[in-house]
Amino acid sequence: KERNGDEPEFLQAVEEVAETVLPYIVKHEIYYGKNILLRMVEPERAITFRVCWVDDSGVIQVNRGYRIQMNSAIGPYKGGLRFHPTVNMSILKFLAFEQVFKNSLTTLPMGGGKGGSDFDPKGKSDGEIMRFCHSFMSELFRHIGPNTDIPAGDIGVGAREVGFLFGMYKKLKNEFTGVLTGKGLSWGGSLIRPEATGYGTVYFAQKMLETKGEGFNGKQVVVSGSGNVAQYAVEKSIQLGANVLTMSDSSGYIYDSEGINTEKLAHIMQIKNVKRGRISDYLETYKNAIFVKGKTPWEVKCDIALPCATQNELTEIDAEILLKNGCICVSEGANMPSTIQAVHVFQKARILYAPGKASNAGGVATSGLEMTQNSLRFNWTREEVDLKLKEIMSNIHDSCIKYGKDEDGYVDYVRGANIAGFVKVADAMLAQGIV
Ligand code: NDP
Repeated sequence: KERNGDEPEFLQAVEEVAETVLPYIVKHEIYYGKNILLRMVEPERAITFRVCWVDDSGVIQVNRGYRIQMNSAIGPYKGGLRFHPTVNMSILKFLAFEQVFKNSLTTLPMGGGKGGSDFDPKGKSDGEIMRFCHSFMSELFRHIGPNTDIPAGDIGVGAREVGFLFGMYKKLKNEFTGVLTGKGLSWGGSLIRPEATGYGTVYFAQKMLETKGEGFNGKQVVVSGSGNVAQYAVEKSIQLGANVLTMSDSSGYIYDSEGINTEKLAHIMQIKNVKRGRISDYLETYKNAIFVKGKTPWEVKCDIALPCATQNELTEIDAEILLKNGCICVSEGANMPSTIQAVHVFQKARILYAPGKASNAGGVATSGLEMTQNSLRFNWTREEVDLKLKEIMSNIHDSCIKYGKDEDGYVDYVRGANIAGFVKVADAMLAQGIV
């Protein structure tokens, strides 16, 4: 706290891990007295840099770029890039720290990192986005590489941005390598990568529900966000027979009491991905729906909640409302969407609750599969990748049970994910000595 006092999101992420990992360290001699968690919370390297670009009116704009290389004990740094005006050191360090545990859970050889910029892509032309991405990569390229650090997308960084970033990297290095994941299919991307985080979040929820003899069929599902993760969480939920009632963006949420079906989801994808519009535009076509301005959707009665927008979007009060309305399962597609207090509410009520580092790990896992395919110079089919994704989510679920099951049978997925993620990284760090 002394060293990172002005970084609330980072402290929150560390506190959540420390709550479960410290008691484990105390009980296990190989980790005790080695300051292992203290070493893990300090990034191996944190880079900030200037990003200058020229907007459409000819004005020079200046943003700040970042890359946090958190931990490389089990593999090269791996984690997304976020372009959003709220981006700062605290947010990126929290994301990088979470990423270390998440990547470890996937069982693939990936260390943890995160980066991005306070650049706001909203309202920018394609030309402005391209110029920004090119400028951003003109510095980042010296710090990354297919065996060093492999960035991907996150909020504000999708296929379009990854394309521009990759183009500049390739030009500067004069090499075609798998330095970024989330690439287009014709230039090194993997099938299922766009779907992977959302699908994985639902696969994980399915595994949790199975432990209670339940499934998605016929369930009422509430989803936040309408970006990459939310869209595919909704798609998979629909495929499994659920009734999806809401989606949202930073302006509020839409509630469609008749359910968002495949056709309506395609319309939302058109609004968000092609027109780059607002979720409220949905009402222009589907007049039965309502738009609730400035609110999150947790007040809508549901069986399953899938928070897929951003950090701290689900508070203690929201958690209480979800419980009161009979929600039995929360699977996080976003990173740290529930506050620590909200998590405690879910745990106290003993409902099925999965933290993002477990339930949204399908995205980075499939990025890992993209890296493997790049190295092999070979592409797996959609079915092959989807099957591997399912297997990985199932294995993560098993790891959570291994380390998170209480004597009375309740599974604390937070404890399970944190300890399972910790053990692998800590063992590697201990084996490599004090570096
Ligand atoms: P997108 O940029 O595609 O979508 C983000 C969505 O969240 C948009 O609907 C956006 O609304 C909303 N949102 C963003 N910031 C806020 C905010 N401050 N308040 C309310 N809503 C907000 O990002 P992704 O779908 O890729 O990422 C969503 C979450 O999932 C993030 O937490 C990310 O870290 C996490 N994640 C993503 C992975 C991936 O593979 N993409 C992998 C693992 C986790 P608006 O359009 O109004 O900004």
